[in-house]
Amino acid sequence: MSDRIVRAITSDGMVQAAAISSRDLTERARQIHKTLPVATAALGRTLAGCAMMGNALKGQGASLTLQIKGTGPLGTILAVSDPAGNVRGYVANPQVDLPLRPDGKLDVGTAVGAEGGTMTVIKDLNMKEPYVGTVDLLGGEIAEDIASYFVESEQIPTACGLGVLIERDQSVRAAGGYLIQLMPGADEDTITRVEGGVLAAGNVSAILDKDPDPEHLLKTVLSDFDVKILESDPVEYKCYCSRERVLGALASLSADDLASLREEQKDIEVRCQFCDAVYNFTPEEIAALNTPKEEEKE
Ligand code: ZN
Repeated sequence: MSDRIVRAITSDGMVQAAAISSRDLTERARQIHKTLPVATAALGRTLAGCAMMGNALKGQGASLTLQIKGTGPLGTILAVSDPAGNVRGYVANPQVDLPLRPDGKLDVGTAVGAEGGTMTVIKDLNMKEPYVGTVDLLGGEIAEDIASYFVESEQIPTACGLGVLIERDQSVRAAGGYLIQLMPGADEDTITRVEGGVLAAGNVSAILDKDPDPEHLLKTVLSDFDVKILESDPVEYKCYCSRERVLGALASLSADDLASLREEQKDIEVRCQFCDAVYNFTPEEIAALNTPKEEEKE
């Protein structure tokens, strides 16, 4: 089954939810960044959470950035979603390798390092100022951190589950998750039923391994509710880099950096930080970037 996000609401209107199946885009991220398993899991969870959050945005050109600045060996993890839920991302140190936890699971929490770390969400709705919210990391396992972001920063009671299952050959076997949010006016009984469903459903990657359909995942977690599916969108790993954009980024380097690039008098190669694209620029193109700012204004 190809990657997909579904959005749903319960028939009583008290709970809204999204779920994603993201095996293919997580595997694509692994191949681009050559991540080892614990980094694949951390980046895969971040991409899945970011995709569901981005898919909730409306408006062309809008984007949602999810940045996890932990204090563990992985370093910063960053993911960006377009308003459809297509995502791209990277992890600073993709080759981190850690022993498994005593329960046999990948130790994402230690690799991320919650102590002293933060999670930042940037919603750029293509208006003047993007909305930025930052919270302290709770445990570094990412799903609980996203839930705590919604509770603290947006005052929305939220349950989040994310999972990435890795094959013996280190490829991605299953990936995805869910995001469940209470609507204003939801009562104690609704909260209890959501919590009960989350507990009963258990491990997300195990559910997706048996059945990768995100609609079934949602109905499993919200088994105590009548669930109405509102939307179902295909999603993929998608980068928006281009030669022009990379050249634009080079032009914003400091005058000193540009001068030293020019002095080298040779082709320079720039790799996109999100995908496997490589762009080459000639010394002439680099020299042309050196237009003094005063002249540009004329
Ligand atoms: Zn790219």
